[in-house]
Amino acid sequence: MKAHDGMYIDGAWRPAADRDAIEVVNPADEQVIGQVPAGTAEDVDAAVRAARAALPGWAATPPSERAARIAALRDVLAARKEEIAETVTAELGSPLELSQKVHVGLPITVAGSYAELAATYAFEEKAGNSTVLHEPVGVVGAITPWNYPLHQVVAKVAPALAAGCTVVLKPAEDTPLTAQLFAEAVHETGLPAGVFNLVTGLGPVAGQALAEHPGVDLVSFTGSTAVGRQIAATAGAAVKKVALELGGKSANVILPGADLAKAVKAGVANVMSNSGQTCSAWTRMLVHRSQYDEAVELAAAAAAKYGDRIGPLVNAKQQQRVRGYIQKGVAEGARLVAGGPESPRERGYFVSPTVFADVTPEMTIAQEEIFGPVLSILRYEDEDDALRIANGTVYGLAGAVWAGEEGEAVAFARRMETGQVDINGGRFNPLAPFGGYKQSGVGRELGVHGLTEYLQTKSLQF
Ligand code: NAP
Ligand code: MG
Repeated sequence: MKAHDGMYIDGAWRPAADRDAIEVVNPADEQVIGQVPAGTAEDVDAAVRAARAALPGWAATPPSERAARIAALRDVLAARKEEIAETVTAELGSPLELSQKVHVGLPITVAGSYAELAATYAFEEKAGNSTVLHEPVGVVGAITPWNYPLHQVVAKVAPALAAGCTVVLKPAEDTPLTAQLFAEAVHETGLPAGVFNLVTGLGPVAGQALAEHPGVDLVSFTGSTAVGRQIAATAGAAVKKVALELGGKSANVILPGADLAKAVKAGVANVMSNSGQTCSAWTRMLVHRSQYDEAVELAAAAAAKYGDRIGPLVNAKQQQRVRGYIQKGVAEGARLVAGGPESPRERGYFVSPTVFADVTPEMTIAQEEIFGPVLSILRYEDEDDALRIANGTVYGLAGAVWAGEEGEAVAFARRMETGQVDINGGRFNPLAPFGGYKQSGVGRELGVHGLTEYLQTKSLQF
């Protein structure tokens, strides 16, 4: 894989301040496929200065022109789709088809949506004798995870650019090559120098320096709750805006009138996709006791069909972590009906698609985010019991409800403490606000709600 040995700062690839490097590993075969520089506080400082210098010009650029640039960026991403998909597959390990359709396809759609929103959003409005201006928040420090290497970047950078903000990105250490390709795409579109900057590096070094930098006005972070909490504390002390998209432990609630086979199949597919490395995955399936045994049988059969086609986990540490959770599930008395803690292959960070039955709400595997291909099936007595279980974690990112009648599913969804609910298999909508209740985060991404995260208001009275 082609890799840049510099940082993309102020419109050009520049040498890093330090010689340290990060090796990029293909998780499917454990081979080193490239290396990128490990940024330091010095690199972050140079990038933030460039972003600050570019801010007045970009903020004053008419929204229609910002829209045209974002549309051009979308077109470059679309033109380089194959190359980006192959890079995602090489550094994340996802099957190529998933990389093409989701990892690259989705961000192209999202970039397109922000080209349109930049052109149509009312950046000025009237309120009585006032004109309210919606102005960019300023310099954005974006810190992204590896699970959707391009989507997580585009979901922050596209709305930030649409709003008139400038950006410094610190991508995950595991997937920096996709971020470098994104920087190349930005360069190809001819965005003014300094509007977008990339610093590769380690979280506790480059990431922390970015979150702490006084020249950053808004820190937008996606990743673990532990790091998110730390970033929020740092930002809070500096009275900086913060957007956090954290973990989840979402419930897939199957009510008795639902199409059981369809709901179970969709539920298993949802958890196994991307090897379970999706924050909004429905990792808890809730089934009425009258249908429980049938659901377990259907889920076990569905999971067994995946084999190792789901791809590996991103790195050895995540593999160990997930296997540890599976062992914990067994130790706490859950019943394994598919998969297990053994590695299905000698090479690569694979974990078998795993399904647990007889999971009770207080078990570790029913409470903590596993971030692997592991589904827990829980039994409920009645709707109130199902609701108690669904809402009974510190998280609230997503979920699903299946029922015979759509209205019944909606009534249940209204009582759920979560940011997204798919009704009877409703499709993912890239315009719908995405974000969490409770400890799943602060703020929203995507669509118009994602845009307003990057705006602040100024009221003029006449
Ligand atoms: P993470 O450490 O929170 O990583 C997310 C991003 O934050 C990465 O760019 C990371 O850099 C950076 N970072 C780490 N420590 C930082 C710090 N002190 N200051 C500033 N930035 C920092 O997540 P992870 O270790 O990769 O994954 C661990 C768990 O997090 C997973 O098992 C899963 O439960 C959860 N997770 C959630 C999501 C989500 O979409 N909500 C995504 C990924 C992971 P490095 O890459 O160098 O660590
Ligand atoms: Mg980390």
